Amino acid sequence: MDADVIVVGAGPTGLMLAHELALAGARVALLDKGPGRTGESRALNLHPRTAEMLALRGMLDGAEEQARTRLETTHFAHLPVPLTLDGWNSRYPYQVAIPQAEVEKVLEEHLAALGVRVQWDAEVTGIEQDDERVRVQAGGKWIEARYLAGCDGGRSFVRKELGVDFPGLDARWFGTVADVVLGVTGEGIATTWDTKGSPRMRPDGSFANIFPIGKESDGVYRIFYSVADQVIDDQRAKVPEDEVIAVIQDFYGAETEVKEVRWGSRFSDASRLAEHYRIGRAFLAGDAAHVHLPLGGQGLNTGVQDAMNLGWKLAAEIAGWAPEGLLDTYHGERHPVGAGVLTNTRAQVALGQKGIEHDALREIFAQLIKLPEANRLLGGAISGLSIRYDLGGDEPVGSRLTDFALPDGRWAGELFHQGHGVLLTTRTELVAEAAPWTGRVDAVEVPQLPDLAAEAVLVRPDGYICWVPGTPLVEALHRWFGTP
Ligand SMILES: Cc1cc2nc3c(=O)[nH]c(=O)nc-3n(C[C@H](O)[C@H](O)[C@H](O)COP(=O)(O)OP(=O)(O)OC[C@H]3O[C@@H](n4cnc5c(N)ncnc54)[C@H](O)[C@@H]3O)c2cc1C
Repeated sequence: MDADVIVVGAGPTGLMLAHELALAGARVALLDKGPGRTGESRALNLHPRTAEMLALRGMLDGAEEQARTRLETTHFAHLPVPLTLDGWNSRYPYQVAIPQAEVEKVLEEHLAALGVRVQWDAEVTGIEQDDERVRVQAGGKWIEARYLAGCDGGRSFVRKELGVDFPGLDARWFGTVADVVLGVTGEGIATTWDTKGSPRMRPDGSFANIFPIGKESDGVYRIFYSVADQVIDDQRAKVPEDEVIAVIQDFYGAETEVKEVRWGSRFSDASRLAEHYRIGRAFLAGDAAHVHLPLGGQGLNTGVQDAMNLGWKLAAEIAGWAPEGLLDTYHGERHPVGAGVLTNTRAQVALGQKGIEHDALREIFAQLIKLPEANRLLGGAISGLSIRYDLGGDEPVGSRLTDFALPDGRWAGELFHQGHGVLLTTRTELVAEAAPWTGRVDAVEVPQLPDLAAEAVLVRPDGYICWVPGTPLVEALHRWFGTP
């Protein structure tokens, strides 16, 4: 075999998945059809749950260094009442404002430190699989591995080639995003990064929103706009520079000087979810599995979290200790999360539509999200902090471990840097019980477990609690970490 896993696509999802696999010692071939990193950037944020996950692997500091700012709140359908992020006991109750290209750079550096480099100019054009292996045609030659992960974006070749249905809604509304360098700036252009910025809305439904995203004052701005009733037949066609310039000058004044249009891209409200996340030896993750309007900035975040869920399970299978059925829990856990993201973005699309009834809906919703519980509910969904998997137990089983300080000055989250499961307990005898699983589970005695009414928690490598006392610990260790 040429590799244990072939990961197709070196966007944020593929990079994170390759990292998780390599961290656990799997041999990864990470293929991308592009000629190299383009620096084109779509997503602009890390939500708190993604920040927590990057922190679990020691990668958040690098991202925070590149962050332009922190945004304390988020929004639902751009309603005037912000969603707060501080009701979920996260160490990072804010959005890290950072262009996607910088996130990819951080992930790529960590991956390189594990000895894995992206193979560019390697377009996957053929896939075969049987009970033993997958074969992938890339750049004209066939390579072989035990598993395949399609992280190849919304138009996923892997998904299509494997015949996975992608039901959902076609595009009815189109928007454009572009990064531009401005010289003279017109009146009303935001001077600080703010995803709400200074949107300018027109009664016909068109809008523009521009704000600086560069480092210091290098003049780089992001513009989002939509032209009323514009239908884009080919979303892949290059965005004409003169269209971008015309829109900027139309909305922000003819005096606004556009020195350069760095890149542009179309997006739409199409929303689709892959019917299956697993097809034999192949898996789908990230945009290959779910697409939706980037409202609330959830796409990259969901993809990175898909990768965190799949990575350790696939690595366990390759290492030979995965318990029966572990790999299938990837679809079981992440498909409902993808469906939830589609639901909330579709609701936001509905709220954003023109018309007297939609205005009424917005008014009612704006009142509702002033209620603390409603605000927390939506904030939890958008930020990913409220995700809870059905792992067959009462709270906190299935929820994320909230981080806390250890007596030695470290944070509990730092115990996950190796990508192992972690047992945290106040009872010495439980540490001994977990000893046969050393190398898969790190058992750590702690004086107390803040926020948890339990003497112990078993936490999976992705940071989700899979056991608290009530049933025998060894049963849970077998269920999640196999036979020692
Ligand atoms: C305007 C806009 C704004 C957005 N804002 C946000 C935001 O603020 N927050 C957020 O979380 N998300 C946001 N998103 C969504 C986010 O950009 C995507 O969800 C994210 O890029 C998905 O990552 P991915 O790795 O799954 O796929 P991609 O980033 O699409 O990467 C797929 C990779 O696969 C490669 N590939 C494709 N086909 C093949 C093949 N056959 N062989 C080999 N390689 C292949 C491609 O070259 C590419 O590098 C936004 C999207 C848009 C359009």
